[in-house]
Parts: sequence; C-alpha cells; structure tokens
Amino acid sequence: MEVKVEQYHDWWFDNAIEFLGHLLEELGVNVEWRDGIVFDALNDEQLEMLVERIEGLIEPKLKYPRENEETGSIEKRWRVYLPLTASNKHGSYKFKYLSGFLGKEPTLKKRVVTSLLSDLITEKKKEKICEICSRPTPFDLEETTQGVYPVANNNLKSLNGVRSMKTSFKNCLLCSFLGYIEWLDNIPFVWYMDVKGNNKTDYTYYLYPKIENIQELHIFKEMLREVLTERKYSNIVVMRGERERYASEGYSLLLSLFENMVRNIKDIERLEDIFCDRWICLFIEKGRVRYTNLEEIKIPNIKSIEKIFRKLRKPYSNLIDKTFAKSLKGDIDNDLSRENKYLMSKGIIMDDFKVFAKAFQIRQNCILAGVSKDMLDKLIYSWRCEE
Ligand SMILES: [Zn+2]
Repeated sequence: MEVKVEQYHDWWFDNAIEFLGHLLEELGVNVEWRDGIVFDALNDEQLEMLVERIEGLIEPKLKYPRENEETGSIEKRWRVYLPLTASNKHGSYKFKYLSGFLGKEPTLKKRVVTSLLSDLITEKKKEKICEICSRPTPFDLEETTQGVYPVANNNLKSLNGVRSMKTSFKNCLLCSFLGYIEWLDNIPFVWYMDVKGNNKTDYTYYLYPKIENIQELHIFKEMLREVLTERKYSNIVVMRGERERYASEGYSLLLSLFENMVRNIKDIERLEDIFCDRWICLFIEKGRVRYTNLEEIKIPNIKSIEKIFRKLRKPYSNLIDKTFAKSLKGDIDNDLSRENKYLMSKGIIMDDFKVFAKAFQIRQNCILAGVSKDMLDKLIYSWRCEE
C-alpha cells in the first residue's frame, strides 16, 4: 500500500512535507516527489526508526548551550522564544516542557506516525473536515496552536486575520504532526538578544524557501543543509578574523546565507542556479505570547546580486558587517547600526539603490562609519554603472 502526503501549497506545511521526505530518505525509504511525497506504507521497524530520529533531533534543535556563570559548566537551555511550551504536566522534563506531538512520549509518538504513515489506517468513517488542509479525516480535530502553524493567532483577536476572520480554527492529526516536526528542520535562523540578555530585544528570524515544485524544494533544501552550521545564536556564521558574528535581521541573514552558499558550494557557474528568489521571513518575538509576523521576500533581480558578488566576493562580511553608526560627538549607536545594516542588505537584495543609500544619510545626528571607500566604489560601480 502507498502513502501519499499531498502538498498544501503553503510555505510552512510544504517545508514540513519536504522535511518528512528528507527524514524518510535518511532511513532508506524510497520517496517519490510528486505534488507531495509518495512512499510504501512504513513497516514497524521503519516507524520505530522514524520516531527515534525525531526524538534524537529534539534536544539539538530546540536547546542551546549556555555557560553557567557560577560553575562555568555548559548547560543546555530550551530556546524559549519558540511557541512550543507545554500545557501537559505529565512525563519527564522533556515531555513536560514541549506541547503537541513533540511533547508526547515515544510510544504515543509511534501511535501517531502509525496511524498516519503505515497501512494500519483506521476503518472509521472520515466525517470531519480539517480547517487547515480542508481534507476529511477520521480523527478528532484539535484547536490549532502556534506550534502547529506559527502564525495561528492563539485565540487572540488582536493577532487575527491570517487565514480566516475567525478567532480560532481546528486542524487534523496530520497537520498537527507536520506542523510540529517542522520546528526540527534545518532552516536558516538568527536569534537576536542584546548583550544584557534584555527580553525586549529577544527575537528571532527564520528564512523558509518558497518553491512551488516540491522536488525542486527538496533539491534546494538538501543543498542548504550542507551549508548551515548550528551555533547558539544562528546557523549562518559570518567570520570577522577569528570572531564569529551573526546578522541581526532577515535581509542581512539572507545576504550572509548567500555568502555562505557561494563559499561552500563548489563548481558554481551561475549564482542564479543556486540562489532561491522567494523566501518567507518568519519573525518571532518572545513575550507573554509569542508574537509572530511574516514577510514575503521576492527578489526582483538575482542577476544584479550575482554582479555584486562577482566584484565584492563577500558584500556582507567585507562591507556591510563592518559598518556602524557614530554620533557627531563620537558615540556608537547600536540600534541605528543595526538599522543601517538592514537598509544596505535590503537595498542589495531588492535591487533598490534608494533604500541602500538611506543608510548614508545623517539621521539622529549619526553618520555611517567603518565603510571601506574602495569597497563602496567597487559596489556602486558594478551595481549601478556596469552593463
Ligand atoms: Zn489537516
């Protein structure tokens, strides 16, 4: 018997289906990529291995290392900005912390994957309709949480308006399984927190490739997985001498990702072939509820980015990352420095010189410093003057 998980044509769930296909291929399952994924129903051993694999990803993906100030030992802490906090009180610490599918004990996880991916499909009549995937399901529907779909509104009217005018909607077992495992996927991200660990600036950006053809999405993401390096704050590292640095918002993150791809992928003829031109930028801010926001980035002209890369090799780390905002009195303004990096990165990615040039205006009595004149000349020449 074949199992087919059909594409949703939605950035979140299609990335989740691709991730499930990737996990299955890792287990040696033969996956066909057509409008979703198709494979032979999993046997007991394969189900067991899939649960083990998912279980094994929870800690490395959802925790980060932090040094204990008193003892100096390294502790693993939960990435608390993620909307995955549990309401269940039972089980060991892991299952107590996490909600939904990820918070279930392995035996219960296996029960879920068995009823979705094996030939033990329930005989019950499919009488309920899922409000996310619109498919009939024999299972009970559950209230959609941000763990299932990050932009779900958590029943707050003020955060409403993503998929319907209702304050809440309900999803099926498959949607909930896919939504939760997507948090374990290797997706470019940066977690920004100021030096003092101030909550007010504790936020994260994730970049999801938006590619309609799921097979192409799979090829692109396999390439992406090769270039990402997991660190506490990000999986895209920008080197400044010996120091590791990270971007602080979505556009700088995308530009530094492109840099990493150019550096790590061998034999590139045209950057157009390896750069994806549509992305969904997910912003998550830690607060009493996790506030999420989406921005779609449609790159208008990959060729223009390619030209800049040919000339400057690393436009982000060699130019943008080195800049900072300095007041006329000489003090450094960190917020404005971040904003300037955002303007320059966005200008290059969106092929918009006006946005780029804004970083050079005097604002709040601050000027842009740290710019290499030579690099800037090269950039402007290749971007604006060369044919
Ligand atoms: Zn569904």
